[in-house]
Amino acid sequence: MTARERRLGRVRRLVVKVGSGLVTEPGAGASPARIGALADEIAAVRPGRHVVLVTSGAIATGVARLGLGARRRSIPDTQAAAAVGQAGLMWHYEAAFRRHDIRVGQVLLTAQDIGDRARYLNAKNTLLSLLKFDVLPVVNENDTVAVEEIKVGDNDNLSALVASLIDADLLVLLTDVDGLYTDDPTLDVRARKLDTVEAVTEEIARLARAARDGRSVGGMVTKLQAARKAAAAGVPMVIASGRRPGVLKRVLDGEAVGTYFAPKARRLQARKRWIAFAVPPQGRLTVDAGALTALTLHGKSLLPSGIVDVEGTFASGEVVAVLAGAGGREFARGVVNFDAAELRKIRGAKTNEIEQRLGYRSFDEVIHRDNLVIL
Ligand code: GLU
Repeated sequence: MTARERRLGRVRRLVVKVGSGLVTEPGAGASPARIGALADEIAAVRPGRHVVLVTSGAIATGVARLGLGARRRSIPDTQAAAAVGQAGLMWHYEAAFRRHDIRVGQVLLTAQDIGDRARYLNAKNTLLSLLKFDVLPVVNENDTVAVEEIKVGDNDNLSALVASLIDADLLVLLTDVDGLYTDDPTLDVRARKLDTVEAVTEEIARLARAARDGRSVGGMVTKLQAARKAAAAGVPMVIASGRRPGVLKRVLDGEAVGTYFAPKARRLQARKRWIAFAVPPQGRLTVDAGALTALTLHGKSLLPSGIVDVEGTFASGEVVAVLAGAGGREFARGVVNFDAAELRKIRGAKTNEIEQRLGYRSFDEVIHRDNLVIL
């Protein structure tokens, strides 16, 4: 038995994400036939398991219902479409799952709900309560209020955050293609599907930029971002075609359908996962080569002496990105002990100079190692 089969055979808590293309028809919005088929699939694997569904399709449905067509829309018009479409979408899910005696509950999230530690824990508790009541949570981004700054932006990343939030055993992204290919299969006949991806390396990420997957917001790029988040949370992920009947059952039976992304052996602690992935960083610190080595190889805290540049406005206690090298590559994230103005004053300073530069005594570390995640 392979590690993959072992993992998949043990799945008790599952997050399934479906893209707009799978649950809507172009021009018509939410499709009762497609949603009905999806409900049948989920109902078939639910005995003995908890399932959370992350669904797109609100905007596509609302656009169809409001007759907005393909023309360019303002943000408020798109948000209005999401409001109308979300109701329509839920109506179909409610009807489709009722045929299986499955109760559904709607959960709409934004990046802020996940970025704020207290709201993050609230969302988690709500989802766990729904599962306790044997309800099937149906999750989408709260598109009616989420503008760019407070958006996760795509449901691939949202589903990985949800999987991490509830400590799922598996995340399945159902889409229009049956996995990650070495090239765009519609353009290149030699394109080959990858069965298993052990780690989302730079090379794998390059494949994603070449591949396309139809109508969804982010295509393969966001799916691989999701794979990275899931892996860090210790959650395996499968990308598979939602157009193949019985696909969920086959995934869970360990059949070689789709592309399987192995989780990291050492999962990040929940709090570190939140630092690494849930919160959009509020600023950027560029550090020198010495600090890069100290942080990545020796597990040290970040001190003021290693900081060469401070960008953004942030308060102490917020999450910032840490960059190094010529191109300024982000290699870590962490919770800072100083605000941006303070950091500009103590940048480059030795520990014993901090008090003198600030005029008061404060922390020695800019980011304590316990609040730092190497990406
Ligand atoms: N939340 C959007 C919707 O329901 C879709 C986002 C996505 O497809 O990733 O229309």
